[in-house]
Amino acid sequence: MRLLIIEDELRLIQELTTALKKAGFAVDSAECVSDAQPMLDNIQYDAVVLDRGLPDGDGINLLQSLRQAENHIPVLILTAKDEVTDRVLGLDQGADDYLVKPFANSELISRIKALLRRPGGALGTVLRTGNLALDTTARELSIDSNLVRLPRRELALLEHLLRRLGHVVPRQLLEDRLYGLGEEIESNTIPVHIHHLRRKLSQHGSSTIIHTVRGVGYLLTEARS
Ligand code: CA
Repeated sequence: MRLLIIEDELRLIQELTTALKKAGFAVDSAECVSDAQPMLDNIQYDAVVLDRGLPDGDGINLLQSLRQAENHIPVLILTAKDEVTDRVLGLDQGADDYLVKPFANSELISRIKALLRRPGGALGTVLRTGNLALDTTARELSIDSNLVRLPRRELALLEHLLRRLGHVVPRQLLEDRLYGLGEEIESNTIPVHIHHLRRKLSQHGSSTIIHTVRGVGYLLTEARS
């Protein structure tokens, strides 16, 4: 899951980025509307955290232009304490939820997860194939009902492959979805994660196979019985 935080308080950005990464998200940030716009145009985010008071305008205007362009990405508005009408909160402008500053990071994370769990949201419930089940909310993988622990990026990788079971997932897409802008990513990063993932799935008796499609990406299928 990849999020965009649009917020001009650097300390808040750093705090949120750290907390959200710990919670398993890839996170990008923009400090103003003009930086955020091209990112939203070019990168497929799963949700946006949007501050109201930005140096070059009100976050609500950005939200309005997203909705006018038929972009229905979940948006959570951050707003100052003394502004409490629906209009100010952005709910009548197409915001999905809001948080009043100051807020606890844990609260923000649970609100984002709730948005992603909505119908059509990026978090489904449990993805299954063969003897493998991935609970995308609890972030737990089980094989033959035994819990298998995976590092968060291997888990995210498996989730993307499972969501497109039987279809090739481009390597570039995996890089984009697993890493934020400016995060170190070597050319062999995804292949190395795939290698570890394959080994662990096979060790735990998974009936799935991850195929490499040279020059394109990866494909998850069930082994032939
Ligand atoms: Ca602000």
